[in-house]
Amino acid sequence: MSRFDPEKYGMNTRAVRAGKVQSQEGENSELLYLTSSFVFHNAAEAAARFSGDSPGNIYSRFTNPTVRMFEERLAAMEGGERCVATSSGMSAILSTCMALLQAGDHIVSSLSVFGTTVNMFGKLFPKFGVQSTFVPLTDYAAWAQAITPATRMLFLETPSNPLGEVADIQRLAVLAHENNCLLVVDNCLCTPVLQTPFSLGADLVIHSATKYLDGQGRCIGGAVVGSKELLEEPVHGFLRTAGTTMSPFNAWIFLKGLETLKLRMEAHCRNAQQVAEWLEQQPLVEQVFYPGLKSHPQHELACRQQSGFGGVVSFRVRGGRTAAWSFIDATRLFSITANLGDTKSTITHPATTTHHKLSDAQRESSGISQGLLRLSVGHEDVEDLIGDLELGLAAAARV
Ligand SMILES: *Cc1c(COP(=O)(O)O)cnc(C)c1O
Repeated sequence: MSRFDPEKYGMNTRAVRAGKVQSQEGENSELLYLTSSFVFHNAAEAAARFSGDSPGNIYSRFTNPTVRMFEERLAAMEGGERCVATSSGMSAILSTCMALLQAGDHIVSSLSVFGTTVNMFGKLFPKFGVQSTFVPLTDYAAWAQAITPATRMLFLETPSNPLGEVADIQRLAVLAHENNCLLVVDNCLCTPVLQTPFSLGADLVIHSATKYLDGQGRCIGGAVVGSKELLEEPVHGFLRTAGTTMSPFNAWIFLKGLETLKLRMEAHCRNAQQVAEWLEQQPLVEQVFYPGLKSHPQHELACRQQSGFGGVVSFRVRGGRTAAWSFIDATRLFSITANLGDTKSTITHPATTTHHKLSDAQRESSGISQGLLRLSVGHEDVEDLIGDLELGLAAAARV
């Protein structure tokens, strides 16, 4: 156990220091405990560990010191009591729901959550008797109407991806608690550096560590943060049994990623803001979706709720899919990939990739039009990124 008291320190100090466990070797950087099991001094100690009479590691599906360091550091940054690290962002959502829900329960979820989350709630969970209703992220009347006596959980991402809509977490927390529900916020796009949902009343925070926590596009991982009551027995108990565990190697990458998270998020925000403002001036661009723009419908709420606007910028070019594809193919720096949160900037055509499973009608109603492009703005020089976007615009203008 570390003696570090996060309450006393700011975000940067937590990011660099929280959770560190010192071995007898005196290392300054955190150790990677790359081991599947742990040995006992004798048979009696083994028995005591297994019975729970003596705390300590047994097997890395249950606990691992490197994974624990990552969990403590992320919990300290989010301001939660306990964190459970998982093998992916999706397994964080799965583990949370399997641990806390049962057949007959109901989820109300934002329609604008990660596509695979929509699939999990809409297609997988009904097999096990858990139903979901999807509502537009910022339609608070629809959230209230969708709640039934069976509802146990409200689930959202804010800002949404790819359109950057911002929902009032505090307002949804009040609604959730009036109805005996948990408010679960997927904080992947903001990270604790830009938004701390617990300070706004959320009960659980979900992460895909794959994105900004890693920050360099190397590993898949996830996490759930919340109270000891919800996480210790229910979620961690599920993970021990189901094996949705994070690997120690990945935990070490994410742990070291957290140390530079604030610096990186500030750089993402700075570059993204410049790119968004530049795009807004281009005649071929019909609309730019970025909460940092004054033209954004929830800009004021974003200013109140977030300390920065993140690295995802989306925009709609004139000329539909042909223009959008020509734009993508003309860029030289942007990586054509659906991942986000990397130092490398990426470009995606949501309608034919991340959102290809939606019907045309669903896509149009959720704003995923054929002319829409999504950027994850990375850490290249912003002048170079804008130069690359100029190539894209020139190509889109020719179609
Ligand atoms: C990527 C992502 C996920 C899923 O995370 P994986 O690590 O890919 O399993 C969940 N939510 C959001 C918002 C994401 O961007």
